[in-house]
Amino acid sequence: MAESKFAVFEGKFPCHTCKEEVTSLRLWRESLELTWMCTKKHLSKASLTMTKKDYERKNREQENRSQTA
Ligand SMILES: [Zn+2]
Repeated sequence: MAESKFAVFEGKFPCHTCKEEVTSLRLWRESLELTWMCTKKHLSKASLTMTKKDYERKNREQENRSQTA
């Protein structure tokens, strides 16, 4: 297969270990995991499904807040 196993995204992602800002991450196609590595070679990981759930929950919380206000 010629296709790469991951896609690279640019942005700002804090290292989980030292909080250094990393400017790109990889989205692994098979596992749907996000990984990024700071200059000190700490590997940070996140699951895309977790991220999506967190995002949806945050949206819902904001909706609730605007309804009660
Ligand atoms: Zn680090």
